[in-house]
Amino acid sequence: MDFVLPRGCCECGGEIHGDAGNGLCWDCRSDSLPLGPPWCETCGMVIAGRVDHAFVCNQCQEHRPAFTQARSLYRYEGGVRTAIHALKYHRDFSVVPDLARLLAAGAKVHLDNPETYALAAVPLHTRKLRERGFNQSQELTRYMRKWLPGQEIWTGLRRVKYTETQTHLTAAGRRSNVRGAFQVKSKSIPDKILLIDDVMTTGSTVDACARAMKKAGAKEVRVMTLARG
Ligand SMILES: [Zn+2]
Ligand SMILES: [Zn+2]
Repeated sequence: MDFVLPRGCCECGGEIHGDAGNGLCWDCRSDSLPLGPPWCETCGMVIAGRVDHAFVCNQCQEHRPAFTQARSLYRYEGGVRTAIHALKYHRDFSVVPDLARLLAAGAKVHLDNPETYALAAVPLHTRKLRERGFNQSQELTRYMRKWLPGQEIWTGLRRVKYTETQTHLTAAGRRSNVRGAFQVKSKSIPDKILLIDDVMTTGSTVDACARAMKKAGAKEVRVMTLARG
């Protein structure tokens, strides 16, 4: 439909010019706060104030995650939040290229050798997949290859346990909620995996994914999400 209808920004409805991509205009993009240090070396949780040395947050010290590192690109608010909502809840696939491009750029910034990692999306349970009709993280991951050509996409991870929404749960509650929720259903698994998701909250879901993949033989799992809520 792109070549029939001029696209507007999903946040403000304004016109999108030139190479800004579909989804968000530059104004709304710059409205979303990019995340950066000081943050936890492991989970990427941002803390306020000035810290001029590397640190690992209390939560990661108490419950060491199975992933080596997690990074989120934006705070879950403003235009980025609207774009994710448009995709997840209104099936607006026109935002996919724009969001996937941000993720691909993030992979190049946060990984030393991005090409050595296979990309994997956090899977949905088949029941959820039927309800929604698609997996937003899988769509984003597939599209990332436009900017990371030749990158392997590995799809051997399954969500075997249906879990209700986690929003009302504490960090400990979330951990037990997703325990055993993921399994590897594939004979082979890449050594290094970059796990992709749209939003990360406490990190319990991506940690459970990483745990399953490490158990199945992955040596290193890193995580990248568009936003942190
Ligand atoms: Zn806009
Ligand atoms: Zn941490």
